[in-house]
Amino acid sequence: MSNRSWVTLATNDSYALGALVLAHSLQRAGSVYSAVVLITPSVTDAMRERLRAVFADVIIVDVLDSRDAAHLALLQRPELGITFTKIHCWGLTQFEKCVFLDADALVVQNCDELFEQEELSAAPDVGWPDCFNSGVFVFTPSKDTFDALIKFAKERGSFDGGDQGLLNSFFSDWAHGDIKKHLPFLYNVTSAAFYSYLPALKHFGQNLKIIHFIGAAKPWLQTYNWESHTVDAPGHLQQFLQLWWTIFVTSVHPKLD
Ligand code: UDP
Ligand code: MN
Repeated sequence: MSNRSWVTLATNDSYALGALVLAHSLQRAGSVYSAVVLITPSVTDAMRERLRAVFADVIIVDVLDSRDAAHLALLQRPELGITFTKIHCWGLTQFEKCVFLDADALVVQNCDELFEQEELSAAPDVGWPDCFNSGVFVFTPSKDTFDALIKFAKERGSFDGGDQGLLNSFFSDWAHGDIKKHLPFLYNVTSAAFYSYLPALKHFGQNLKIIHFIGAAKPWLQTYNWESHTVDAPGHLQQFLQLWWTIFVTSVHPKLD
């Protein structure tokens, strides 16, 4: 077993669909590293079977929830308290180095070079670029870090109620520390880029490595036309939603029943 692994998280069957497409996208991009998925007990047995067919390991963890309704309301995403479950990443001490990917991320091109980065490497968040976006990050599993994160979460909580606020406060030197830990935006292109800076997207977009479908409108919630085999979406995001759905229809859907 390699001492490096991709890691994702799904606390329900809906996000598990994203995890399945993500795993296939890693294979399609020719990654030499295997992937594991963290799941919580609410993921159904049928879905666990499907996950086991694609992931090297399916690891059951307990739910960690910020229960911070006030901050989550500001974010307009009441469901994101459960993302504290991401802390379990640091418990994966069977690995020396890992790269976490949100279940709503899609690997477009091989990015195995991410494993050469150090903890905590991540790309800037479009909403507040002095924060990193916690949908893609390089980390080093460690019992000490895990314990420290749990303690930090209990004592300090998260300024946004979710994992991103927590991790940015914990790894607070990211903004002004070692620039090598700033991943290029190409490793975590969030959908906001598609309306905020279109010329840059056109100029750099062919080098895009990972697309991240942030926000409440997840790919699996879009309407897919099974006759024309197209997904209806506005503008430049369409080609990436189309890729997500093509992988879903080709590799995931045939195995669902
Ligand atoms: N997640 C999950 N169940 C939930 C919400 C989130 O498993 O109910 C996990 C999943 O891996 C997801 C990540 O936490 O990709 C972060 O949440 P999300 O992607 O919805 O946040 P966004 O990227 O939109 O800020
Ligand atoms: Mn996400």
